[in-house]
Amino acid sequence: MTETCWAAAAHLPDGLAFDVTFELADGRFSAVRPGTAPGDARRLPGVVLPGFANAHSHAFHRALRGRTHGGGGTFWTWREAMYAVAARLDPDSYRALATAAYAEMALAGVTAVAEFHYLHHGPGGVPYADPHAMRDALRAAAADAGVRLTVLDTCYLAGGFDTPSEGPQLRFGDRDVHAWAERAADADGVAVHSVRAVPRDALGVVAKAAEGRPLHVHLSEQPAENAACLRRHGLTPTAMLAAEGVLGPHATAVHATHLTDADIAQLAGSGTGVCLCPTTERDLADGIGPARALHDAGVELSLGSDEHAVVDLLEEARALEMHERLATGERGRFRPAELRTALTNHAPMGRPDAGRIAVGAPADLVAVRLDTVRTAGADPAQVLYAATAADVDTVLVDGRTVVEGGAHRLGEVGPLLAGAIGALR
Ligand SMILES: [Zn+2]
Repeated sequence: MTETCWAAAAHLPDGLAFDVTFELADGRFSAVRPGTAPGDARRLPGVVLPGFANAHSHAFHRALRGRTHGGGGTFWTWREAMYAVAARLDPDSYRALATAAYAEMALAGVTAVAEFHYLHHGPGGVPYADPHAMRDALRAAAADAGVRLTVLDTCYLAGGFDTPSEGPQLRFGDRDVHAWAERAADADGVAVHSVRAVPRDALGVVAKAAEGRPLHVHLSEQPAENAACLRRHGLTPTAMLAAEGVLGPHATAVHATHLTDADIAQLAGSGTGVCLCPTTERDLADGIGPARALHDAGVELSLGSDEHAVVDLLEEARALEMHERLATGERGRFRPAELRTALTNHAPMGRPDAGRIAVGAPADLVAVRLDTVRTAGADPAQVLYAATAADVDTVLVDGRTVVEGGAHRLGEVGPLLAGAIGALR
């Protein structure tokens, strides 16, 4: 299958280019030619970017948006609301909700998702007849929604330090780490839920089971986790993960909000990436992570919408800079190209070949309009500081059109979301 597209402006690896023709063949770019006339190519509006990477997702958390703010609360009370949704899901409702959530992501320019999947089993932790029923529901959802999916089979063995799992947590857990490893053997990637949920003596087993696949871990999202880990083990979570062999070039630490200078050096020295989720971190009052310090230390940054209180990766990228501005009183903490690199970093999915518009790379494209009420007048070089998900017009994933004219190929996504979420209430 071949196609020729053209855009007046596009962000290529060397920078912004104009009058660009893209040739797509078998899901990859076969030619990229700036300074060319459109001819009879399909014209893409606005400015074209590589596909956005959503490196941290829990699809079912989408059901909580706009429902957790009444009483204020904390991260921990939010978690109770999340458990209540988890308790109601089965493979069919999980698939319906994830399809709608992934379709919303596609509308926002997301072409690939790393799903940090921990809702493995039925009520009470009883495995489904097919132990992969929930994971397969996510796969079917991503196929319908048109996004590339990396399912991270997540190890979750305890409710907290020296606390067994209880209630809905039982659905997340396995008998022991070896039972988890058996199920996760053919997953795209794996994850340690957190140092709270995976005891120290199991961390090395998870690291070994990863075998070069992506390995993700929630890290130091809340100060309480750091304090408990220091009390129990005399180590920060980062130091304990390092000691047990979890960190490394295939590892991605998610959040990494509350780090010491030694933690930052350890993440950088091991080649571990960090996925920041700014809209979640502000929603849950986690704090502002040390994004610039991590970047300066040599850590590769990526972005995730995590709990999906907001699904707008342009906003996540912008928030990297804006949160730094609030924390430091300085503008220009990140250059626009650095924000774009984080927005299009597909390495945490195990796909470092994606996220750039170049010959041989997967043909993922996002066309962002420059004539909407938000973007009119914006310099295409600075579109990240003006555009929102609503300005995404066209999205191609592996050369296939998933979104065109701002509409998803599945039709109206709002009713899909409303139906899937309503069915859980
Ligand atoms: Zn998360």
